[in-house]
Amino acid sequence: MNTTSPASDSAAISASVLVIDDSLSIRKLIQKILTMHGFTVYLAESALEGIETARQHHPNIIICDVNMPVYDGYFVLTTLRKEPEFELTPFIFVSGEAVARQDVRRGMVQGADDYLFKPFTPSELIEAIEVRLKKHALYVQKHQAKKSPFPDFLHPYEQLEAHIATRLGSPETMSLFSVDIDRFKRINDALGFENADKLLHLLLERFSILAANQNNIYSGAHAGQIVLVSDQLEEASEVEAVARELLSLISDPLDFQSYQLHLTCSVGVHHVNTEKSPREALEKAYVAMNQAKKEGGNMYKVYQADMHTLLTRQLTWEKELHQALQNQWFLLHYQPQVDLISGEVTGVEALIRLQHPDLGLIYPGEFIQIAEDTGLICAIGDWCLDEACRQLKSWHNMGYSSLRMAVNVSVLQFQQGNFTHKVLDTLKAHDLAGEFLEIELTESSLVRDLEGIQSDLERLRNASITLAIDDFGTGYSSLSYLRHLPFDLLKIDQSFIRGMTDSSASLAIPKAIIDMGHSMGLEILSEGIENQQQMLLLKSYGCDLGQGYYLSKPLPASDLEDYLKEKTVATARQ
Ligand code: C2E
Ligand code: MG
Ligand code: MG
Repeated sequence: MNTTSPASDSAAISASVLVIDDSLSIRKLIQKILTMHGFTVYLAESALEGIETARQHHPNIIICDVNMPVYDGYFVLTTLRKEPEFELTPFIFVSGEAVARQDVRRGMVQGADDYLFKPFTPSELIEAIEVRLKKHALYVQKHQAKKSPFPDFLHPYEQLEAHIATRLGSPETMSLFSVDIDRFKRINDALGFENADKLLHLLLERFSILAANQNNIYSGAHAGQIVLVSDQLEEASEVEAVARELLSLISDPLDFQSYQLHLTCSVGVHHVNTEKSPREALEKAYVAMNQAKKEGGNMYKVYQADMHTLLTRQLTWEKELHQALQNQWFLLHYQPQVDLISGEVTGVEALIRLQHPDLGLIYPGEFIQIAEDTGLICAIGDWCLDEACRQLKSWHNMGYSSLRMAVNVSVLQFQQGNFTHKVLDTLKAHDLAGEFLEIELTESSLVRDLEGIQSDLERLRNASITLAIDDFGTGYSSLSYLRHLPFDLLKIDQSFIRGMTDSSASLAIPKAIIDMGHSMGLEILSEGIENQQQMLLLKSYGCDLGQGYYLSKPLPASDLEDYLKEKTVATARQ
């Protein structure tokens, strides 16, 4: 097979043509004509080579000789038509003049689009190709338009760049709004693509109000994503008012099939000014939208330069995390959890760190979110669980046989589907009973993703594993919301402990949480205890357990062993 590229003609048509013919002279002739007209040409001298070349290069159109030795043109046609990718690719047969009528019919029935009879003129060849390409393009356009989830007033995305390009560098203002329905994937998963498209259509219909106000609206390249362009908003306050309107249009409840859905969206806003290309401008709106999403969605964000730095940093981190998994750069530190009445260490919490060869020890604040965003948290979480259990068993064997291990788990790990099995298998592999494992889930993740994990929680609980709500107070849930869940332990977020001695109101919060938690049968642990005053107060409020720098910082395994040795002595002396 050989290829020729279009001549450097500015009006070059960039379509590609595959020519399959066993005659070298015909191949060369067709190649010459097509190259002169700006087509990219692929050549093949047999049916089999033609099929392979088609699969490799996906030409826009195929010109194929009918009569070839071994396998003929019909073989090429029937083989390719069976492959979805070539179902509709225009296919033109080239044949001798003497071909019988029934052979032509046979070709058409098998899906050929046209016949060229030798000898043909260059203009006949070009005309045949162009007619087929045009028809094909029209068909595709219509077909896609029918399938599009976007209402008619949304212009196709391709027009967006052109529209922005005409305005770049002009003194007029232009604002871009990148809109994305939050967690649309879940809708896709739950309702199927077809229903999700219908739903998207209904949601986007709501933007027709804005379209009527002469904003230009463009549909996006990916499901759920759209871009609005406004050329009329002068003031920042006007721009932000549109962003707010977008949020409120989407968040109105939607009756769909038998459901009432409450959806939200994230909006990224960018005032176009110095950008050199439409892509650059669009990317900024997109980055801002992503930031809104990261911060929980249902909000708008105006683009700021540091968002980009953040994104680049994240991309770098993603690579580092893959490497860290491969090269075993992760390690765990352990922070004691102490019974506030007896002073005994009841357990330890495993906290992940990354020992980077160049950057040193890195804390999870730097990478956990990125691990979540990329899904890598599942592989990292598997490693943590296994390593924590291995370590716990070794401590049990050293005589600390009542010690419990708390492991932080991401809701994403549950959503993988086989998480409960994995936990039970890991416990079994290390010969540990369920009562020695505690699983911590942050309150904010529970509020977002509770559906679907309840039965898993029940199963873990049935295996005597302790379930803890981590960072309680940061997720805006109420205790009554959580009361139906099978949790055993509530960990009050350290922000309440840190500020508790600032005012009497701050003092009241941990006390109220402790009282309510107890009334629901939960054990209470206070995180982030940093001084004696905090510890004594919490103890006087009846808080059961404590964790924090005052008791001990998170420690490497060997240091924790020293701590346990001292602690046992200290407890024994009391
Ligand atoms: P967390 O589970 O709430 O863990 C407690 C965090 O508070 C730890 O930070 C700990 O070092 C810190 N801390 C403990 N006592 C004090 C104190 O007295 N004062 C202050 N200022 N901080 C204290 P770390 O280790 O940086 O972990 C941060 C968060 O990262 C954890 O919060 C947890 O949400 C997440 N994380 C850590 N390890 C894992 C893991 O293996 N898997 C998952 N999914 N998340 C993890
Ligand atoms: Mg935790
Ligand atoms: Mg916490």
